[in-house]
Amino acid sequence: MKKYVDVIVPLPIAGQYTYSLPAEMEEKVQIGCRVVVPFGRKKFYTAIVTNVHYAAPEGYETKDIEEVLDSTPVLLPKQFEFWEWLASYYLCTLGDVYKAAIPSGMKLESETLVVYNPDFEASASLPEKEQKILDLLSNDTEQCVTQLEKASGMKNILPVIKSLLDKEAIYVKEELKRNYKPRTEARVKLADSGMDEARLQQLFNDLGRAPKQLALLMKYIELSGWVSRETTLKEVTKKTLLEKAGGSAAVLNGLVEKGVFEIYYQEIGRLDKGMLKTTDINLLNPAQQQAYQSVLQCFREKNVCLLHGVTSSGKTEIYIHLIQEVLKAGKQVLYLLPEIALTTQITERLKRVFGHRLGIYHSKFPDAERVEIWQKQLGDEEYDVILGVRSSIFLPFKNLGLVIVDEEHENTYKQQDPAPRYHARNSSIMLASMFGAKVLLGTATPCVESYFNAISGKYGFVELKERYQDIQLPHIELVDIKELAHQKRMQGPFSPRLVKEIKEALERKEQVILFQNRRGFAPMIECHTCGWVPKCKNCDVSLTYHKGLNQLTCHYCGYTYQVPRSCPACGSVELMNRGFGTERIEDDIKLIFPEARVARMDLDTTRTRTAYEKIIADFEQGKTDILIGTQMVSKGLDFDHVSVVGILNADTMLNYPDFRSHERAFQLMAQVAGRAGRKNRQGLVILQTKSPDLPVIRQVISNDYEQLYYDQSAERQIFKYPPYYRLIYVYLKHRKEDVLDMAADAMAAQLRSGLGSRVLGPDKPPVARIQTLFIKKIMVKVEQTASIAKVRDYLLAVQRAIIEDERFRSLLVYYDVDPQ
Ligand code: ADP
Ligand code: ZN
Ligand code: ZN
Repeated sequence: MKKYVDVIVPLPIAGQYTYSLPAEMEEKVQIGCRVVVPFGRKKFYTAIVTNVHYAAPEGYETKDIEEVLDSTPVLLPKQFEFWEWLASYYLCTLGDVYKAAIPSGMKLESETLVVYNPDFEASASLPEKEQKILDLLSNDTEQCVTQLEKASGMKNILPVIKSLLDKEAIYVKEELKRNYKPRTEARVKLADSGMDEARLQQLFNDLGRAPKQLALLMKYIELSGWVSRETTLKEVTKKTLLEKAGGSAAVLNGLVEKGVFEIYYQEIGRLDKGMLKTTDINLLNPAQQQAYQSVLQCFREKNVCLLHGVTSSGKTEIYIHLIQEVLKAGKQVLYLLPEIALTTQITERLKRVFGHRLGIYHSKFPDAERVEIWQKQLGDEEYDVILGVRSSIFLPFKNLGLVIVDEEHENTYKQQDPAPRYHARNSSIMLASMFGAKVLLGTATPCVESYFNAISGKYGFVELKERYQDIQLPHIELVDIKELAHQKRMQGPFSPRLVKEIKEALERKEQVILFQNRRGFAPMIECHTCGWVPKCKNCDVSLTYHKGLNQLTCHYCGYTYQVPRSCPACGSVELMNRGFGTERIEDDIKLIFPEARVARMDLDTTRTRTAYEKIIADFEQGKTDILIGTQMVSKGLDFDHVSVVGILNADTMLNYPDFRSHERAFQLMAQVAGRAGRKNRQGLVILQTKSPDLPVIRQVISNDYEQLYYDQSAERQIFKYPPYYRLIYVYLKHRKEDVLDMAADAMAAQLRSGLGSRVLGPDKPPVARIQTLFIKKIMVKVEQTASIAKVRDYLLAVQRAIIEDERFRSLLVYYDVDPQ
């Protein structure tokens, strides 16, 4: 009887596809393994098997699987269950989830771009097919799989590509250029293992006429410790030797040919970076001990607990104690951090305690490294603790016991684009429940929804109000800049009071942080004379200015433009960089304090992970006096010598048209303020605003989260927002504006017939055209008590009906559930 498999393909299409298995593969395939399948016209994809059966599908002829890629599953049953939940809750397809969940290197397809690795040196000769592909790539070092298929005349080369990837002869091209670290390292040793003083002297004489070779040899003797007669010589890498001796590879090769040196290759696991000494964990102080016990107590009755602890109360210490308990019970821990908070500071702190049991999953790591972690988690020596960003909820856990969501209020836990538009905090609660695991949400400024769940008893609730060692919370001083601007007493963005405080801090050799909220999405160009801003011709957005490239790019469609020499609207040549404002601030501060060492931390200066870490390290080590930054400066950083924090303009946060804007502003300001003042003195925060009378400003000053919560939640109840109502945004896209308008009206009308006044719109979203597609948005507000599952089913049914209408054939519909 013929065997079939159902698979998920990495495409945004609903449902799964059935393929037949050629006889020779029948025994090889298991649920959760990857297979290569033909799809569409001459395209191949890596698909994942979700079922193996004997039932031929009705209505269509199945195609055969091309190849089975795994002998054991890479997707575990619980994960698959989690994927299904995600797809149904966030109203997207399993293909969407698959694409987000699995690192690129594990889901090759015809369009995958692969890149030649110039550092690769084969340890044995490659199979013919692999060599052929590699040769093609060595000529033209970046090609997509289809291109290579054509050039080689081979059909379906995904298995060949996979094998080359495993050997790291090639790698998958990623958006960002990342430092790629080869996994094997070339090292140098003396060919003559019995080398002694006399023979070495002879060698020196022989090389007398080849000074470069001689220099290299002498450097080797030095680096390997041969001179000091160590019993075992130190290993010397080819790279270090050439660098230190200032020699070239040709010189080294000369010595290899003369039989002086031998080159050998050593595997260097990227993940295990040498032996780690672990330290004992810190003892908790009485307040922390009490909080810790309360969390444990909560977990006896509830699955989720909110830990509301002021900044620097030692929440991380409590997490560490909890992790240790869970590890003792033989279970795994997932420790989630928002992207921008995952710094060396926290990784090193945890590495010191958990050593090799800790793995780190970061989106700025090379893809190959993420593949390696994935594979490791499937094996027998998996990490017990994963510290990671949003996407680490997809890693294959076997025995999850605890999830920690640090800075749980951070909106970067929500993925905006593309689908799945999931929230990692909320999703991890579901993931944990599948494992019977507990979830701890930690923050100094809870999101209104979590706080609501905590005080209503749905979650456990623990508070920690003391800072560790009673370090005082900073003193926040309000400065009304509206009045000052009126009197022309502002120096650029700085009030006289702020200038005075910065000056005094610098005199005391203390540090300053200046915080400027990020206004738009990205830096822009603006005409100084008429205010003209360049826009994308395909999308309804302003273009992003890349200073380094001196280019304009569209953030949505990727289209690039030259920077115009003059303004097309008025002819003025005064086009200026509007930036985040941080650049301006940097210039202004340098004028006032020319001696001060100033650094800027924003999207522009932190494109790579290393650049980001360097700014932090320099500030930590006191190499910088003033740090200017956007929200990035507020997260997960402990600095010891910051005595003044300036919030330059609170109003940009408060005026943002969103029901969460005051909540967000409070969170941001509280977090930024928390950077001021460490061990022995109280820090000072200067809060500059034009609206000193807003309640939220008072709440920031008195650090009164409860009052903020009561105000905000009262407002949300009246205006029907979370936590009292759930939101789903329905987005419709079409090339033609009139068709879109008709479709949106039709869909809204149908939705209203079932959901009544819960449906609002359609409206034009702030960005109303992307990639030449017009966009409309319908908002659905559902009361907490209603069945959200029924609403989802209804939405999908209406969508199907609309799509079936001849007129709306190429209409795109997608959803944003629990939008942020
Ligand atoms: P939070 O996560 O609440 O902001 P942290 O855990 O980062 O606070 O603690 C703030 C600082 O106090 C850190 O430098 C940390 O090492 C130190 N600290 C907190 N609790 C302890 C403790 N029990 N023993 C030693 N140091 C502690
Ligand atoms: Zn102009
Ligand atoms: Zn565009």
